[in-house]
Amino acid sequence: MSGKYNPYENMLEVMEKAATMLKLEKRDYEALKYPERELKVSIPVEMDDGTVKVFEGYRVQHSSSRGPCKGGIRYHQDVDMDEVKALAAWMSLKCAVANIPYGGAKGGVKVDPSQLSEAELRRLTRRYTAAILPIIGPEKDIPAPDVNTNGQIMGWIMDTYSMMHGYTVPGVVTGKPFDIGGSLGRPEATGRGVMFVTRELLSRMGIDPKTVRVAVQGMGNVGSTAALLLSRLGLKIIAVSDVSGGFYKAEGLNFEEIYQYVKTRRLLKDYEVEGAKRITNDELLTCDCDVLIPAALENQLSAKNADKVKAKIIVEGANGPTTAEADEIFEKKGITLVPDILANSGGVIVSYFEWVQNIQSLMWDEAEVNSKLERIITKAFSEVWDESKNHNTTLRMGANMVALRRIVKAKKIRGIFP
Ligand code: GLU
Repeated sequence: MSGKYNPYENMLEVMEKAATMLKLEKRDYEALKYPERELKVSIPVEMDDGTVKVFEGYRVQHSSSRGPCKGGIRYHQDVDMDEVKALAAWMSLKCAVANIPYGGAKGGVKVDPSQLSEAELRRLTRRYTAAILPIIGPEKDIPAPDVNTNGQIMGWIMDTYSMMHGYTVPGVVTGKPFDIGGSLGRPEATGRGVMFVTRELLSRMGIDPKTVRVAVQGMGNVGSTAALLLSRLGLKIIAVSDVSGGFYKAEGLNFEEIYQYVKTRRLLKDYEVEGAKRITNDELLTCDCDVLIPAALENQLSAKNADKVKAKIIVEGANGPTTAEADEIFEKKGITLVPDILANSGGVIVSYFEWVQNIQSLMWDEAEVNSKLERIITKAFSEVWDESKNHNTTLRMGANMVALRRIVKAKKIRGIFP
């Protein structure tokens, strides 16, 4: 790879390697290199000051072989088609690793939502929804939250879709607030899944959780919940950061307190921790810790800093935080990495539960949701672990092999239309 980092090329490189290890024939997986559908839309928004701004939006459906397409929508100023394509493909793989009956999709709008008022954000969301409306729906493609999107935004999407259909359709999005058909346990699900896979890995490696020091990059929903639940499991959270930088404290941070602060979406730069050293995001990634959890954006661990990483374990809370070159470096250094398509699958697993509840008009209690999540994600962990041991390869390769085998099998059974 050369020039600008392209997450789609990164995804293809890993897929190719997994296909070779599975000894797949080219015709079996050739179609998976191309998303089934790519939609680019322009989104005119009337701003509060009366001007009109036009934003760019995307929805990519990578594969529907195993079921309706599924995946979040992100709002970020750097979103582009290649990123959304990669994220859509990772969703297909993620749903296949978890063995839930979905294909993969992703959406994005190129916007910095912190620059919009709530009314502007609502108008942008409704217009984007109208633009992608022909290709979404509970049986076709079901969006969910991702970077910088949340339950409120899902609520607007659900309402817009419902208004256009003339009746309420809760199953068109997941990650909705509870009062309009969201599932208990969904807001914490991705972080809870990160906790479960970390716990499983430590147990396989014979490491006592009480001796483990954790660094977390990203204090959004995933990073903050993962840190909270891991601290409750007895692990020591020694470093955290958000876009504004972070803290390092060798004796451990009081994360219950930090959690209350970041929950209200305030930045760490405005927070004081006694006895802690202020660090940058780059310093967090290479700090002295046992488990590193990148839970922010793609391309954080690359050839530039991979050599300096001191953690022995990396658990990818984010999608695509590690480049293919960094992966090789980690393998050589003997770092164990739990890949995104397994580590952060808790979110889409509980999205699946939400959708199942919606289409059957059921409501499960939180204990039921959490125990079903635990069962599915620990089973997925075991299958990936066994695959990687059987082929003497990394967990990333193991996860991609499990996923690819399942998708290719579904494609084979269905055959190529016409
Ligand atoms: N955006 C989350 C992810 O990347 C959740 C997707 C979903 O629930 O559909 O896995």
